Amino acid sequence: MILVKDVSKVYSLGSEKFHALKNNHIHISKGEFVAIMGPSGSGKSTLLQLLGGLDLPTTGEITVDGIHLNQLNEKERTLFRRKKVGFVFQNYQLLPMMTVGENIALSLSANHTSNAQMKSIVQKLLIDVNLQDKESAFPSQLSGGQQQRVAIARALAMKPSLILADEPTGNLDQKNGADILKLLSKLNKEEGITVVMVTHDQQAAQVAERIIVVRDGLILEEERKGGYRNETVANRMA
Ligand code: ADP
Repeated sequence: MILVKDVSKVYSLGSEKFHALKNNHIHISKGEFVAIMGPSGSGKSTLLQLLGGLDLPTTGEITVDGIHLNQLNEKERTLFRRKKVGFVFQNYQLLPMMTVGENIALSLSANHTSNAQMKSIVQKLLIDVNLQDKESAFPSQLSGGQQQRVAIARALAMKPSLILADEPTGNLDQKNGADILKLLSKLNKEEGITVVMVTHDQQAAQVAERIIVVRDGLILEEERKGGYRNETVANRMA
């Protein structure tokens, strides 16, 4: 599903260059639930942005569902994101002047879905995230946990094969965070959606089948449920 081959990302800061990711390899299979952990500034969000085609690597290749992201132009990458990827962010990123229903329908309207189809998709998604009665509410009228469920419904609108979540529970209390993790886990198990989630929270990472640890731009180790541990640096150098 996802293949990251020798990927680096270098940011230029004036005349300085900053290596946010350094020659990383990863393979993520279809239907996996992967947590990415590591200290702040280690390159986790950068990795997620590259996987979602929001940015391109400086060197190396990323393939998602057989699509070589490096070979897409900007317009093709926008289409790729719209069709394949659902993004979920720590701060929800809902549009405050739009209702819950309108926020969820955003990507559908960009895809020229008819009004009747849009309404039925939105209503089904509202049921899936247990917010049936909130279609006409505005984001400011909802709790953080409810807003994140709207963001997940929005991410699901185009039936993505991949959800990329950047600290989805970072702003939530334990109960609401647990509800969000349960929802992501359900989507992964029941719908077969691949989930890649950046998190600081060890509890959140336990929901995943596999934990990838990033430090200083390097994927250092992986842990799979069941105690399997794999030093990827050693593998890479072998
Ligand atoms: P994490 O998600 O692990 O906190 P990030 O991927 O956000 O880390 O950032 C990794 C490093 O790259 C940080 O030192 C950050 O300051 C730097 N960085 C991220 N985005 C940019 C950018 N657009 N321009 C310059 N430096 C950046």
